[in-house]
Amino acid sequence: MSKLSVVLPAYNEELMISGACRALRNTLEEADIVYELVFVNDGSSDHTWEEIKKEGKRDSRVGGISFSRNFGKEAAIYAGLAHATGEVIAVMDCDLQHPPQTLVEMYRLWEEGFEIIEGKKKNRGAENMLRKKSSRIFYRIMSGATGLDMENTSDFKMMDRKVAKSILSMPERNMFFRATTGWVGFRSTEVSFEVQERQAGRSKWSTASLIRYAFQNIVSFTTVPLQFVSMGGGICFVCSLILMFYSLIQFLRGHAVEGYTTTIMVLLLIGSAVMLSLGVIGYYVARIYEEVRHRPRYILSEVFRLEGHPDWNGNVTEKEERGE
Ligand code: UDP
Ligand code: MG
Repeated sequence: MSKLSVVLPAYNEELMISGACRALRNTLEEADIVYELVFVNDGSSDHTWEEIKKEGKRDSRVGGISFSRNFGKEAAIYAGLAHATGEVIAVMDCDLQHPPQTLVEMYRLWEEGFEIIEGKKKNRGAENMLRKKSSRIFYRIMSGATGLDMENTSDFKMMDRKVAKSILSMPERNMFFRATTGWVGFRSTEVSFEVQERQAGRSKWSTASLIRYAFQNIVSFTTVPLQFVSMGGGICFVCSLILMFYSLIQFLRGHAVEGYTTTIMVLLLIGSAVMLSLGVIGYYVARIYEEVRHRPRYILSEVFRLEGHPDWNGNVTEKEERGE
């Protein structure tokens, strides 16, 4: 019987840990699936880690790792994948917004031979209009830029161990998990699920952090904004040619173009276009800088009842911890 590892990133989720364990135990035991839970405590400031250890002492199938500080959900997912030992690995939120029942459905599809099973949101849960609109814009841009259909995707996925291995082997520090599983290929399929109401605690995303997240992911996944810069340059060039001819003709006909206002306007326009483009390029340079610094994705402070998969141990986890 193949073991399922469920990776659960948790950041200030003390209220949800035991509930998540209970719900998963009920569902997976009923479906007769052998499993382990891999909690990743993403530097919580509440008692999340204590809760995880408490659950682990009660049930040997529950283990976890703890970060030295908050490194973000992407890093938590990566660490969870590196420490999961099952033949098949699922990633889900520990606030139970991703229904455990869907895991069973995904597992059956994996047994049928699919290697990646993506969870697709049927609805977006209880979010306000502004957030819905802005996330739609973000996904439009991402879909257009990556050529993958990103709308309604989520981080709720199940994958074969070899898929996880290929994701873990990617060297980039800024990973966008959601898009990366589409990029690696393999035999994939989708399962749609209803986003549940969060039962306790609250969402970790502020509007500012979502905007930062969106920019980061667009930049880490595509270079389309850079092409916009060249396009903008091209348009500016064409406009300046037209303006040049116009002013030259006017000059030759004996009445020069109004001097000062035109000059100021053109200067300001070009100035802001150049600054904006530099900003875009600067953003990429910053990302490149971050990548070449080669800092570890996360730093572990504690590991509880998890060994890490023997294949990956020397390969990913230890290296990460040594900071290579
Ligand atoms: N999370 C995390 N690190 C963070 C932020 C969130 O590990 O820095 C986890 C969080 O504990 C939860 C999941 O990511 O299990 C989704 O977070 P949340 O429910 O706040 O997001 P939402 O469902 O509102 O999109
Ligand atoms: Mg949530």
